[in-house]
Amino acid sequence: MNINPFRKDDLWFKGNIHSHSTLSDGKKTPEELVESYRIGGYAFLSISDHELFTDLSNLDREDFILLPSIERKMVRENKPYMDWKGYHFGGIQGSNNTIQQAAQTPLSHGTSFEIPVAKEGEHIEEAQKMINMLNDTGNIVILNHPQWSRLELEDFEKLEGLCGIEIYNSFAAVDGDDEGAGAAYWDSLLRKGARIWGIAADDTHSRRSDNHIKSELKQGWIVVKAPSLSKEAIILAIEEGSFYSSTGPEILSFEVKNNVVSVTCSEVNKIEFITYEHHGHTEWAQGESLTEASYKLNGDEKYVRVVCVELNGKTAWSNPIFLDW
Ligand SMILES: [Zn+2]
Ligand SMILES: [Zn+2]
Repeated sequence: MNINPFRKDDLWFKGNIHSHSTLSDGKKTPEELVESYRIGGYAFLSISDHELFTDLSNLDREDFILLPSIERKMVRENKPYMDWKGYHFGGIQGSNNTIQQAAQTPLSHGTSFEIPVAKEGEHIEEAQKMINMLNDTGNIVILNHPQWSRLELEDFEKLEGLCGIEIYNSFAAVDGDDEGAGAAYWDSLLRKGARIWGIAADDTHSRRSDNHIKSELKQGWIVVKAPSLSKEAIILAIEEGSFYSSTGPEILSFEVKNNVVSVTCSEVNKIEFITYEHHGHTEWAQGESLTEASYKLNGDEKYVRVVCVELNGKTAWSNPIFLDW
């Protein structure tokens, strides 16, 4: 078995695919967000304002592009906190092929929506309708911050049409890393056979004052391997899972070759191979830091993904390599 999710000659581009501007409840204008991320070494950004689809490609530069996007919300009747136990979905305009296969014309800049309130017992059905609407208008769909939303696995495990799930949300993580986490949900879905990517994103709101002990700005990102920096190349790579998520470390390579899974990365303290149904393997740095690890697969795993962790807790997550033995 030989699988390499990253094409050899392609380039790495760092981006944040979840942010809010003054067009909804963010404190920075789209122009300020672009400037901040561009200076920070990012190459792309989605300004996914609440209930408002934006295509801000007029702000594109030679070294920085915007992906047209939206964040849609659904709340549930009779919940003490209307925003919780509901769903937030990220919708990002898909590749040309995704748009062509969609049933309806793509959303255009400035399209806005009301927030639906699902009746008791109908929330899963309503969530599916929302995903379908986003897919039918040519978007890929991401389940945002499931932990912050206090979702149960049963609230979303049967939903169809999800491309990704947030496994790290910086805005929620300001209140504590567990609040922004999602990787346990992700593994649950993967164990059930879902083919879904893990996403780290800022969910930038820029609401906290400058002297706040922690900001969500530039804390969680994805790094995409693509042939060039164009909307089509980046979104196609996201659709195909040619990226990893991170709050710090870099993943330089990740592949399965002759049934051995291997990874190379920036200096970390721990490299964990998560597999199913076996437990996988964890390699710890022995004194010095670690920049590579490999592990011989048993030959019947359903998938393998890798997690690289620095001593300070900063983490990089690969996407799963799915194994059809
Ligand atoms: Zn949200
Ligand atoms: Zn958001």
